[in-house]
This record gives sequence, C-alpha cells and structure tokens, in this order.
Amino acid sequence: YDYLVKSHLKSVALGRAIRYTLSRARARGGEWDSPMFRLAQQQFLKAAQYMNLDDNIRQRLLFPQRTQMVSFPFFRDDRTQVETVFGYRVQHLLSMGPTKGGIRYHEEVDLGEVAALAMWMTWKCALMKLPFGGAKGGVRVDPTTLSDRELQRLTRRYTTEIIDIIGPDKDIPAPDLGTDERVMAWLMDTYSQQVGHSVPAVVTGKPVVLGGSLGRKEATGRGLVYLIQASARHLGMQLDGATAVVQGFGNVGSHAAHFLAELGVRIIGVSDVSTGLHAPEGLSVEDLLEYQAEHRILEGYPAAEAIGNADLLELDCDILVLAALQNQVTVENAGRLECRLLAEGANGPTTLEADDILQERGIFVLPDILGNAGGVTVSYFEWVQGMQNLMWSLDEIHGRLQAILLDAFQRTLSRAEAQHLDMRTAALIEGVSRVTEAKLLRGVFP
Ligand code: GLU
Repeated sequence: YDYLVKSHLKSVALGRAIRYTLSRARARGGEWDSPMFRLAQQQFLKAAQYMNLDDNIRQRLLFPQRTQMVSFPFFRDDRTQVETVFGYRVQHLLSMGPTKGGIRYHEEVDLGEVAALAMWMTWKCALMKLPFGGAKGGVRVDPTTLSDRELQRLTRRYTTEIIDIIGPDKDIPAPDLGTDERVMAWLMDTYSQQVGHSVPAVVTGKPVVLGGSLGRKEATGRGLVYLIQASARHLGMQLDGATAVVQGFGNVGSHAAHFLAELGVRIIGVSDVSTGLHAPEGLSVEDLLEYQAEHRILEGYPAAEAIGNADLLELDCDILVLAALQNQVTVENAGRLECRLLAEGANGPTTLEADDILQERGIFVLPDILGNAGGVTVSYFEWVQGMQNLMWSLDEIHGRLQAILLDAFQRTLSRAEAQHLDMRTAALIEGVSRVTEAKLLRGVFP
C-alpha cells in the first residue's frame, strides 16, 4: 500500500514537472508544436525525470536539430493549374552518425507530426544500438488520390527540394505510411541523376534488384512477431491457439498477421481505412491479402462481420496489434481494452494518460520504439550492404534481426522490472541514456 501511495504521489509530481517544462518549451519552440510533438516531448520528459537527466541535455534533446520545410508546385495529370504542396524533413539528432527515418505521405502531415516521428526515430535507433540519429520526412498529400505518374512526379520534386540535406553519409530516408519501394526507387534515381552516378545507399526499403535488402519489406511485421513471441514467453502465454486483433492491414499489419497465423494464432479481427472485420472463428490472412490485392480495400470482404474501429479495439483477445495511425488508445478507451498484450507496430498509437491506465490494468505493452524497430534494423543492414556492395543471405538477416531485437527486449524488460517502470519508459531510458553518453563525450562546439 505504501508503495502505491508513494508511486501515486510521484506520478502527480512527475505530471506537474512535465507540464512545467513543456509550457516553457512551447514558449521557446512553438514552431514544432502539435498534439503529436507534445506527446513525444512528454514521453521523453517522463523518461528524463526518472533518469535525473542533466538539464542541458534535456533542453538539447527536446527539439530537433535541423528542420527543412518546403513548398513546391505540383501538376495533376488532368489539370493545367499547379497545386502548391508542403513537404518536410526533420533531423532530430546529428550526434550519432547519419540520420535515419522514413517518409510519410498523408493528407494531414504537419511539421509537428514529422518532428515527433523524428524524435522517436532517435530513441528507436539508440535502443537498437544502431549508428544513426533520428529523422523523418513527410508530404501533405493524400496518396490514394494520386496516379502512378503523379506519385512519381511528386516524389522526384520533393527529393529535389530536400537533396542538400540527404545522402548516404548524411540522412537516409526509407518508407513509412503512404510510401513504398517504388517511391524509394524514384528517390534513389532522382538523387543519383543529380550526382551523376548510382547511389543505392541514399535510401533503404528499395526494390531488391536496385540494391534493396532481402527481408526488408516484411521486417517490421516479422520483428514485431519476434517480440510478441518473447513477450508471450515472459507472460507465460501459449501462442498456438491464442487470439489476435490487428488494426491496420498495410505493410506492417498484414505481415504481422501473416507471421502470427503461422505460429497458430487465430486472427479474429482486422481493419484498414475502409472497414473493420470481425470473425470469432478466425480470418484467413491469405484470403484477406487476395481480396485486398483485387479491391484495394477490405470493405465488402464476405467471410466476416463488418465492425467499427472503436469496437475493433475493444474486442476480447490475447494480443492487440496496432499497425495503423497515431492516437488510437487514449484516456477514453484505454479502460475498455480487453487484451493481455498490446503490440505497437504504428508510431505513437498510445497517449501518455492511456499508458498509465494500461499499466494499472496490467496490460503488457510492447512500445512502438521497440515493437516496430525491425524495420529500421533491416534498413541498417540494407545501408551497410549498400556501402560495401555486398549481399547478405536471408538467413543471415533473420538471425541478426532476431539477435538485435531480443537484446533490446531483454534490456528493456530488465530495466522495467528493476525500476518498477512501464515498458515504454524503460525503452526510452535505454535510448536516451545512450544518446546522452554520446553527446557528453562529443562536447559542445566551438
Ligand atoms: N518508417 C519506419 C519507422 O518508423 C522505418 C524507418 C527506416 O527504415 O529508416 O521506423
């Protein structure tokens, strides 16, 4: 009881300290301010508080180091008028090596969102011990409205706009929401045209024939399932016969569902932008993929009952995989989740208040910077192979991926248990400590 009272008082004090630092930060760095960036800052400040982080380092890490915001003209196929499109590339931390992170095409992307995602990339890379700082890019456009030619034109112009700050030794983009290996191929081609020779290592997540890595495409989903296996061992949960709900059926969600099904997990619910699907007896991932390939969306899939997003998240299941957008589990619905394990494939799907509720309810969380790190880890392998012009086998990639993820899982879990922390804060502390050590060693220029 004493412990509970103490920890409650501590969390009240912690909340006050975070709010204070945040309001001061907003006054100084309002350019990046947005709900998502505030979430990233709050999570970081919570970890910083537990670590007693040096205040100078705290202030340095609270904001991105370099930001490029561009607007550029864009012609649709059938129109004579140009449109003005906004694009961003944010590099959060330049102290660890080149920066690394995906590019997101989404109609609501803004500077704060890209900055939040860049900050998360920093912690994710540090947690995995990769020699990268975090970055992220974005273009405010709805990619589902674009023809292939439009998508290519937009990508080439955006690449040209950010060309000065990217490069194999500077900043290495990759796919994220709304972008894929074709987009990476155009990005690489545009960059290569400008410098006069092919530079495969300027981007990761490219097609294998252009120097992409075996296993990169499914790496995030595969990695998440390696971590779900490790979590299940820790929780004493039998995966064969367990049930899962997967929110999002894009590159991350569909691969995660596929690998879970291979382990005997029954997928009782899935969703995409168009609909949620519920089938207590289980869904066939292969049939879903086939239907999606034909119709583009899951709406109308016959062998299941249609269900709304809110209800999907509250289905009774062993494992809930979040592989869609940010801000899905909030103070509003966290009390009603019925899973034992929450596995975050998306970035930022859970709010700070929801984290507290999940912890109180004993739901085990695989936080995003750990859960979805398989993607950037195989991206690192792709970059290394590109820089050395050699190729690794799929076995080698799977083995190395598993070793890196399980090591990070183990370090996070040990810290969480030793310091009575939730898994997210423990994972953040792992990342932030490494970055702090590097920053202190490098000192301040000049
Ligand atoms: N966009 C992915 C992420 O959020 C992958 C980034 C990368 O491979 O660089 O982690």
